[in-house]
Amino acid sequence: MKVLVLNSGSSSVKYQLFDMQQETVLAKGLVERIGLEGAVLNHQPGGGEKLSFQRDIPDHSVAIKMVLDALVNSEHGVLESIEEINAVGHRLVHGGNEFSNSVLIDEKVIETVKKLYDLAPLHNPPGIKGIEACQAALPEVPQVAVFDTAFHQTMPPYAYLYGLPYELYEKYAIRRYGFHGTSHKYVAQRGAELMGRSLSSLKIVTCHLGNGASITAVDGGRSVDTSMGFTPLEGLTMGTRCGIIDPAIVTFLMEKEGLDSDGLNELMNKKSGVLGISGVSSDFRDLEQKAREGHERSQLALDVFAYEVKKYIGAYAAALGGLDLVVFTAGLGENSPEMREAVCNGLEFLGITIDKDKNQVRGKETEISAEGSRVKVFVIPTNEELMIAKDTREIAADII
Ligand code: ADP
Repeated sequence: MKVLVLNSGSSSVKYQLFDMQQETVLAKGLVERIGLEGAVLNHQPGGGEKLSFQRDIPDHSVAIKMVLDALVNSEHGVLESIEEINAVGHRLVHGGNEFSNSVLIDEKVIETVKKLYDLAPLHNPPGIKGIEACQAALPEVPQVAVFDTAFHQTMPPYAYLYGLPYELYEKYAIRRYGFHGTSHKYVAQRGAELMGRSLSSLKIVTCHLGNGASITAVDGGRSVDTSMGFTPLEGLTMGTRCGIIDPAIVTFLMEKEGLDSDGLNELMNKKSGVLGISGVSSDFRDLEQKAREGHERSQLALDVFAYEVKKYIGAYAAALGGLDLVVFTAGLGENSPEMREAVCNGLEFLGITIDKDKNQVRGKETEISAEGSRVKVFVIPTNEELMIAKDTREIAADII
């Protein structure tokens, strides 16, 4: 079975085509600057050179048509015909309380996702554009929606409710939803496989540390708490997002700085986080470099981040009532031995001891816990696309 995985953003479409027999990537790429000047498709056939195609790409329909053309092109294509695509999996950010699993897309699913636009105004509308464009181009092919929030729907009410009037939860569905669910689920499953244990027997903390960062407590394969909330702004101090702050700061800044809601959203989402603290960069590579050169605020930003991750691991060990495995994933989690060491340092009392030599690894699936460490610690590169492809295969297999 061949599955096309699509991740549609407001001006971009990322794609990967999988052969699900071997779970290999046949081709992947990215359409960027849709609707803007300088639109481009970057396409890479599996094992081949990256190719770049520039042309006017006014909307998602044209973008998806270009992707399909690239996949069947006689020179750099990987398919004889578009009919070889058996199913399409779409990444959608927000499934609200409506979707706790991936689903086959029909009119009702699209209507329900549209009703959730308020919860993810930047992310869900382009997702639907991608789906509708794909339905038009491949009308006979089953399409599946995979939601970032779905994995966290198993959280108990005491973990997802905020201390606000209950009526606001009823009226606006204000609660913790959590994000990066596909990634947390993938690395938790993979972690259990690597330990040779069944997922249902394990208490795991998964640390997805990238530009956007979140931590999840996974009990027996189910998410029981996660650091992102109603939106992906809550939790850790991220690249440019502030994470948890005293909510009173919001009204304080509105008064003192004369900011309206747009201004505050911009401040908290784009100008805060480690960028805001360091005053230098949102990129952890830059911060590590600057800190090595003696830039104090870069070091401070790294210290804040490491301290917060450490606190979440401690909190989630308590929430889980034990801990068997900690997993580091995403850009920073996979690639920064320094950050992993800073996070784990001092957690020996929880049974976490890492091996400094084994920890010198970047982007590779490895155990980094020391021999005798009661809690295992793994680096597992995330693979959200493969997870989406697997869900899509499972759901589509029933009907093709
Ligand atoms: P997102 O998908 O949220 O944009 P990624 O998971 O791609 O984020 O992670 C990007 C982050 O990973 C960047 O901020 C970068 O600083 C960090 N990163 C990537 N490689 C390294 C590295 N070798 N050392 C330290 N940080 C790294």
